[in-house]
Amino acid sequence: MSSSEKISVEQYKETQLQRLESGFVSCADLLTVNDYDDETDKEGFYVIPSAGDGVIGRYRSLKDMENDTPNIIVRKSVYDKLCNADRILKRKSGYKNCQIIVTYGYRSPEIQAKLYFDILAEKKENYPSLSDEELREIVHREIAFPDVAGHPTGGAVDVIIFDYKKGKFLDFGTEICQFDSKNIYYASDDITPEAKKNRRILRSVMCEQGFAPYDGEWWHFCYGDKEWAFYSNRRELRKKGDRKDIKTEKKVLYRQKEFSEISEIIYNDKFKTHVTDNRLRIRLAVQKDGRLTEKTLSILKRSGIEVMQDKRGFLAKTDDFPLEVLFVRDDDISKLVDAGVADIGIVGENVYRENASNSIIKKYLGFGKCFLALAIPNKPDSDIKVLQDLNGKRIATSYRRLTEEFLKEKDIKDVTIIDIAGSVEVAPLIDYADAIVDIVSTGGSLRQNNLKVLASILNSQSILIANRKSERDIEKKNIIDQLIQRISSYLTAKQFKRVNMIVPKASLLQVVEIINKREKIENMDDSVEDNIIDVEHNTIIDMKLPVITPIYGHEEEWCSLQTVMKLSEIWEKMEELKRLNVANILFFDIEGIIN
Ligand code: ATP
Ligand code: ZN
Repeated sequence: MSSSEKISVEQYKETQLQRLESGFVSCADLLTVNDYDDETDKEGFYVIPSAGDGVIGRYRSLKDMENDTPNIIVRKSVYDKLCNADRILKRKSGYKNCQIIVTYGYRSPEIQAKLYFDILAEKKENYPSLSDEELREIVHREIAFPDVAGHPTGGAVDVIIFDYKKGKFLDFGTEICQFDSKNIYYASDDITPEAKKNRRILRSVMCEQGFAPYDGEWWHFCYGDKEWAFYSNRRELRKKGDRKDIKTEKKVLYRQKEFSEISEIIYNDKFKTHVTDNRLRIRLAVQKDGRLTEKTLSILKRSGIEVMQDKRGFLAKTDDFPLEVLFVRDDDISKLVDAGVADIGIVGENVYRENASNSIIKKYLGFGKCFLALAIPNKPDSDIKVLQDLNGKRIATSYRRLTEEFLKEKDIKDVTIIDIAGSVEVAPLIDYADAIVDIVSTGGSLRQNNLKVLASILNSQSILIANRKSERDIEKKNIIDQLIQRISSYLTAKQFKRVNMIVPKASLLQVVEIINKREKIENMDDSVEDNIIDVEHNTIIDMKLPVITPIYGHEEEWCSLQTVMKLSEIWEKMEELKRLNVANILFFDIEGIIN
C-alpha cells in the first residue's frame, strides 16, 4: 500500500459518511432483498485456473487464503462470464497482452462473519459516537454484512488487470483493498487519467457480461447475489421511469454456501483443461528481500533463467523457462510449497525443518550455509557449563520446534522457551533469557553480544523443495526436473575446471595416476555438499579421464593433457605435478555440464 495517500481519522470518517449518503447500494438496501432461486442455486462451483494468459485466479496475499485452499473458487457462470470479459478486454486497443486476474472469489460465511466482527469492533472503538446502523454501514463498506455478503455465494469477485508481457498490474489508482485510501471509490477524481481509463475499461468489460459493479470499490463485481439483484432491479426501475406497476424480475440466483458444501469440487482438479495458455508454468517461491535473494536469483541466472524482480509485485514470469517466481518472506516459502500455492521453493533448511514441512527436498544448493546454535553468555562464572545445566533455564528463540526437539533428544526437561522474532542475541544481555537458539554463520554477532556456542543443533544451507502433489503431476514434474537439471549443471560446473597442462612424456604415467587419485573430503564441515558432489561424480568421471594429445614437433619429449578437476583438487595436486616437471597448467571455467 502506498502511504502517500493515507488519510486521517477525521477525513476517513468524512469520506465514509459521504459514501453512505451517495447512491451506493447500502447494507440496508440489501437487507430488503431476501429470496433466492432454488433452481439456479443448483449451479456448481469452479476452481479458476491459476496459470495461463486468460482469466486466472490468484490471491494477492497469503492472508487471503482463509478458506484453507490456495484456489479461487466461483460459480460456473461467473467463470464463463469472466472468460468472456477477458476475451473482450484483449480486443480493446492497448489491452492486447492483458488478462483479468481474480484476486478473490468465494469466501466461507464463517470467515465473512469473523472479518466483519473484527472490523466492527475496531470501528466501534474509533467512532464511539456512531449509531449501530451507521456503524453497520461503515463496516459494510469494507467487509460486507454477513447476511447479505456476496463472496459467500461464489458470485462476487475482486478483479484487476495484469499485463503479462510487461509483468505488471495496470495502474488503478490504488491497490486492491487499499481501504486507507479515499481513492478506492470507483469515481474518485484524485487519480491519474490512466487509472481512470483502466477502471472504466474494467467496468465496461465486466458489466457487458452482466456483472454488477460496486461503486465503493473499483475492483468488486458481482453476479447472482443480493447486491447484483438489487442493483439490476434498481437500474430496470430507473429505465422504466415512474411506472411502478411494472414488476422488476431479477431474483437472487445464488445462496450463500458453507465451505463444507462445496469443498469436494475444490480438490477436483479441473485445472489443466481450462488453461488457455498452453504453456504450463511451475511456480517457484523465493525470498523477497533477504540473505538468500541475491544468490537465488544469481543461480537462476547462471542456469539460463533470468527473472526480473518487480519490487512491488509479488509475481514475476520468465521468458526463458516456463516458470513463475513468487517473491515472499522466507518463513512463508515452505508453507506455500506445502500448500501447493507454489510448486517449488528455495529456502533455508532451517526454515524447512522448523516448519516441519512435508515437501520433498530435491536439491542442496550449497549457499546460505549456517547452523542453528545454542549459545550462552561467555562469562567465566556462568552456571551453565554443559547442556544438562540448562535445566530450569530460559531459552529465547524463534526456532521453538527445533529447540524443543533438541532438548527432548538430550533429555533436558525443565526449560522455558521464550518465543521472540528478532534480535534474539540481546535476550541474555537484558536478562530476558539465560541462553538463546539462533542461526549463526560466522559467529560475529554472537561474539559482539558476548555469547558462545554451547551446541550446534542443525547445519543448514539453502535447499530446493517441491510440493508432493506437483511431483506426482507428470507435466509439472517434467518442468521441475528440467529446472533442477539446469541448476545442477551450473552448480556442478561451478565446482570443476577444465585443465590443460604440458606433461613430460617420461612422467606421463605418474601424472595420470595423480590425476586419477580420488580427492579426499577436504572439509568435514562441508559434508552435506560433498555428498551431493558424490552423487554427481558419475557425471564427472568420464570427463576426468585425461585426454592426451601429442605436441607438434615435440612428440618425443612432451604431450598435452586435458582433464576436468575440482578447483580445490588443482591446488592440492599442484605441487606434486610441478615436481614432475609439468608445465603450463591452465584452467578454465565450465559453463555447464549435461550428462
Ligand atoms: P524475511 O524478511 O524473508 O523473513 P529473515 O530476516 O527471516 O527474512 P534472513 O536474515 O534474510 O531471513 O535469512 C534468510 C536465510 O538465510 C535464513 O533462514 C538462513 O537459512 C540463511 N542464513 C545464512 N546465514 C545466516 C545468518 N548469519 N543469519 C541468519 N540467516 C542466515
Ligand atoms: Zn470483494
